[in-house]
Amino acid sequence: MTAPCPGPCNNAWRNAEAGGDHDLTPTWGQPIHCTRCTLRAQAQLAEFPELVAAISLEALNGTAPKTTGTIGRAAAPSWPGQAARILTDHIVDGLLGLEDAIRAGRHLPSRTVRGREGSDLTAAVTFLRAHLPWALERFPGETDPATGATMDPADLIRRWHSAGQRFTRQHPRLEHHRVPCPRCELLTLYRADGEDYIECRNPNCQTLITPGEYADHTKELAAATHT
Ligand SMILES: [Zn+2]
Ligand SMILES: [Zn+2]
Repeated sequence: MTAPCPGPCNNAWRNAEAGGDHDLTPTWGQPIHCTRCTLRAQAQLAEFPELVAAISLEALNGTAPKTTGTIGRAAAPSWPGQAARILTDHIVDGLLGLEDAIRAGRHLPSRTVRGREGSDLTAAVTFLRAHLPWALERFPGETDPATGATMDPADLIRRWHSAGQRFTRQHPRLEHHRVPCPRCELLTLYRADGEDYIECRNPNCQTLITPGEYADHTKELAAATHT
């Protein structure tokens, strides 16, 4: 017997079900998750090594904590990169825990502990990609008796993945444009991921220029050095 896919594809249908009469049709599982939700979980799994690396970059380059804040103001990380560290632990521990749960469920030998985050993560992702089809049929809907948390691997993967994405979007990587700012003449021009303008990060300047203006500016500088 097929049941509706437990994934986000059925959010609208579940809301409608809770509200009573409606004429929505759910997406059926094959056998539990639909094909789209299965493919999404696989794709998200494959992205974790890169996503965790992006989070770690933030830990290394994190902005210094503000020294002007009021004592007792909550939620300010106490050292640069602490938020990145906590999130990295959350995601990596989660993936390793999922690997352990699947190994136990399939009576496989326990995980080789490498003790190095990068290689543990890569090995976990490789293992999980191979065993995800089994896990998606085995775990959906079960809750962890210890924590009451859901054990649907697709759901767990989606949560970890979106937490990582939210974090890296809030802390976009900056591309340094190594040409002096047209206004303050400092080497402080940066372009953030996905932004359509280049910004001077000198707090006293903060000029915004478009890529076209940047190109003209670069040409002018080049011309100036050749005359
Ligand atoms: Zn689905
Ligand atoms: Zn400037």
